[in-house]
Amino acid sequence: MHDDGRYDDPSVTGSAGGPVPRETTYHGWSPDGASRGVSTWSPDRDPVVHRDPPASGTARSVSGSPELPAARTASDGPGDASPGGQVIPIRRNAAPAARFEPAVPHQPAPEAVPDVSPAPVPDTPATQAATYGLTATEAPYVSRETPTREEDDPPLAMEAMRAVQILNPSGEVTMPRPDRTRIMCVANQKGGVGKTTTTVNLAVALALHGNRVLVVDLDPQGNASTGLNVPHHTGVPDVYDCLINSVPLEEVAQTVEGIPNLWCVPATIDLAGAEIELVSVVARESRLDRAITAYPGHFDYVFIDCPPSLGLLTVNALVAAQEVLIPIQCEYYALEGLNQLINNINLVRQHLNPRLEVSTILLTMYDRRTRLADAVEQDVRNHFGDKVLQAVIPRNVRVSEAPSYGQSVMTYDPGSRGATSYFEAAQEIAERGVKEPVSRNA
Ligand code: ADP
Ligand code: MG
Repeated sequence: MHDDGRYDDPSVTGSAGGPVPRETTYHGWSPDGASRGVSTWSPDRDPVVHRDPPASGTARSVSGSPELPAARTASDGPGDASPGGQVIPIRRNAAPAARFEPAVPHQPAPEAVPDVSPAPVPDTPATQAATYGLTATEAPYVSRETPTREEDDPPLAMEAMRAVQILNPSGEVTMPRPDRTRIMCVANQKGGVGKTTTTVNLAVALALHGNRVLVVDLDPQGNASTGLNVPHHTGVPDVYDCLINSVPLEEVAQTVEGIPNLWCVPATIDLAGAEIELVSVVARESRLDRAITAYPGHFDYVFIDCPPSLGLLTVNALVAAQEVLIPIQCEYYALEGLNQLINNINLVRQHLNPRLEVSTILLTMYDRRTRLADAVEQDVRNHFGDKVLQAVIPRNVRVSEAPSYGQSVMTYDPGSRGATSYFEAAQEIAERGVKEPVSRNA
């Protein structure tokens, strides 16, 4: 502490003769890293604002100087000599003169004027009803603001609008239905990339918009069944019975509560043994294909949620499907192992299912705060071109919360970013299905 009661400012007396800010700011990336994390001091950015104006003649403003002298004390720094020879320290943090608030001359208080404005009317349903000519039950929902353009809407209103659009309570067909059933296998041998989440949410989105949809849960973990709140405990007839015991699909398919037009073939833990049991079964690769072909119900979409492996269950899904939808997580390693999946798809196409093609790539768990997500997106788009949907699914906590309530995010929080993104992805898939049906099913 100095004689005048000041403390040294640690931000000014940093080592190496200059200020070292604790926080660094990114100013864009350059290959040599030159602009990375560099934050330079400038007098205009000095965060310390001194409210006390300098006593005239005792302090010298240094605000215009680009350099900061390293020393601050009267003894070792430059100073102004007073007539008596006393060294007066420079107040280095003195703010520029323009920043000081001018002294306001004292003015007499204006004479009190009586307040003649009307007393505020309490904002109650009754007063709103009187103002807007509504019933008392409608009144609490009336907004005083009247937005004229969509971007003027407050976020809550936007969310409500999105929710109505996604839930589509009128049930009208707002996503075009394909000419024939599109069977889509949702595959990626990596676990945790969003296969199940994608299956469940796309299926619900399409079903809510007038399409008839069947979800086949082909993962012994039964996550898709959980996400759709379909019973799948031991003893429930499931996809295992269809694959091993040739039980017709319609006998095991269950309706999904609350979502008209959506059915689910559940998976129980029995399915865990199916990979091994299938080995000795006749036509082991095409058991699921036969079951789906024999299903009399006409569906617009069949989504098959694959396990995270390239075993016989996934091969069954690839043989049954026309299209492969690959969810890719926007993380490092995302593309690793994808070659193996593509090789398997090519093998199945050559030997078992010539109509199979990778039609759709969906980027999931995109975190826009990271450069990595951007880099992965660019890589995937360069590699797969227009197979990659424009819609990208962000990492969104509502998406991960929804399954614990036995719901898709579409119904759990229809106004959330996760729901909106899956809705947009479903819309794109539906539109592509009617634009390119010939090449898709050729
Ligand atoms: P997979 O079926 O490929 O194994 P899941 O769909 O089960 O992957 O997703 C793995 C985990 O990541 C789950 O806990 C899921 O809730 C979560 N998750 C998936 N997508 C998102 C997302 N967009 N945002 C946040 N969490 C997600
Ligand atoms: Mg899964």
